Amino acid sequence: MGGGSQGELMRDDPILIVGGGLAGSSSALFLADAGYPVTLIEKRPFLGGRAFSFVEKGGAVIDNGQHALLGCYHETLGLLERVGVGDRLYRQKGIELEMREVGRRSMLTAGGMPAPFHLLRALGPFSMLTLRERVQAARGAIAFVLRARMRPEAVARETVEQALIRAGQSERVREVLWYPVALAALNDDPAVASATLFAEVVKRAFLGRAGDAAIVLPGVPLSDLFGAPVTAALAEAGVEVLTGATAKNILLRADGRVAGLTLNSGEERRGRGVILATTPGALGRLEIDDRPLTEVLGGIPESLEATAPIVSTHVSLPAPVDLPAVVGLIGTTTQWVFNSDRIRQDRTDGTGLLSCVTSGARELDGVPDAEVKAIVARELGELLPEVHGMSVEHMHVVRERHATMAPTPVAHAERPSVRTTVPGLFLCGDWVQTGLPATLESATMSGRMAAEAMVAEAPKAASGAAA
Ligand SMILES: Cc1cc2nc3c(=O)[nH]c(=O)nc-3n(C[C@H](O)[C@H](O)[C@H](O)COP(=O)(O)OP(=O)(O)OC[C@H]3O[C@@H](n4cnc5c(N)ncnc54)[C@H](O)[C@@H]3O)c2cc1C
Repeated sequence: MGGGSQGELMRDDPILIVGGGLAGSSSALFLADAGYPVTLIEKRPFLGGRAFSFVEKGGAVIDNGQHALLGCYHETLGLLERVGVGDRLYRQKGIELEMREVGRRSMLTAGGMPAPFHLLRALGPFSMLTLRERVQAARGAIAFVLRARMRPEAVARETVEQALIRAGQSERVREVLWYPVALAALNDDPAVASATLFAEVVKRAFLGRAGDAAIVLPGVPLSDLFGAPVTAALAEAGVEVLTGATAKNILLRADGRVAGLTLNSGEERRGRGVILATTPGALGRLEIDDRPLTEVLGGIPESLEATAPIVSTHVSLPAPVDLPAVVGLIGTTTQWVFNSDRIRQDRTDGTGLLSCVTSGARELDGVPDAEVKAIVARELGELLPEVHGMSVEHMHVVRERHATMAPTPVAHAERPSVRTTVPGLFLCGDWVQTGLPATLESATMSGRMAAEAMVAEAPKAASGAAA
């Protein structure tokens, strides 16, 4: 097909999307809803990409890692409504976080007020900080976001830690308030993570519309929120979904425009365009006209191939624990404890399940599972009196070594746009330039952006077809 003529590209050839994570799925649905024929190609047997669930050895249905959304995830929440699973979410009205450290605990609670009042209201009773520190935090948040807006090129070079110090945030305010939020939102150490990205999170969540800071959690296992319902919605929208199919080589017409692709099986698929919705690592295994794809695209910056890990330890207990839905732990390896029995609608068997999360978990690289379990058990014992006297039935450690891109200032600056130099070829994925950290929201947004870029080019493809 590589030497084919323009006339070979039929008007009704589908748009081919490679990768069935949130990015590829959102692209596929957007295009199908706009009336385009679409084929989605996913190498694994199921859709959902990095957000999926499975049954662990002890019999509990667990996620590959707890996913948290915010009220400001407008694109992801819109996609979930479109797919018909908006009622499968656990939604808080605003910020409802209990933070604990040895000897102290306090709620960060706010909701339903416009910015910046919800931030002020959240900080008001937050007794883990002194009144002076709370005022410092509120002023610092506004100063930080304003500086990112007024001096973007300066902030672009800074890490979260550097920018917060510049914004006058003391070590205590950073450790107790900003770093837990930054780690959860960016998935890396504030000493290396991009200040620009964090400013965007603070702006959207804390200084955005009422409800934007609300915590929204999957109310069912991830595969029942994304994988299965998205597959059904795509089928209903007329998308051809190929699972267990790995794309290998992008094919070009004589004039250099995308003509389709081949699969690892050798099967050839014609297409009026291709959207690659994979990670940068997976792009490195693809070819275009039998040459390495990344070479044709001018190389993928090394900074974008670096990833950050997340370690989740799922703790099965004999009975549900009387604990808030989300508890943040300060000064421990475990950063957040999610109480699945408060969050998930399907948890009705009378047992208990806690999901203990460490983001940017480089310190746990190479630490054996048995040791991770011992650390988590000790920390829960120290900070969660609610579990005292309960015998742990089972613990399961899930390590996602490549959970997200490492969100350094350099990596953020080098994220590519959805457009490529090859006509008819587009990129999406949480790592492309959306201005957001590599999250579900970035993935969903990038999918829509790639689809829009494809649509903008599509009339050209159609006239090419008619030639
Ligand atoms: C443990 C963990 C916790 C997380 N927590 C949060 C959170 O709390 N909040 C949040 O917003 N985000 C979170 N994330 C990040 C979120 O999961 C990702 O940002 C999002 O799922 C990325 O979607 P994507 O479509 O860009 O990529 P992916 O989900 O990686 O999808 C890419 C797909 O492409 C497929 N593929 C690759 N190569 C080929 C090929 N050649 N042919 C066919 N298919 C191919 C892959 O199999 C994969 O399914 C977390 C991630 C992890 C791992």
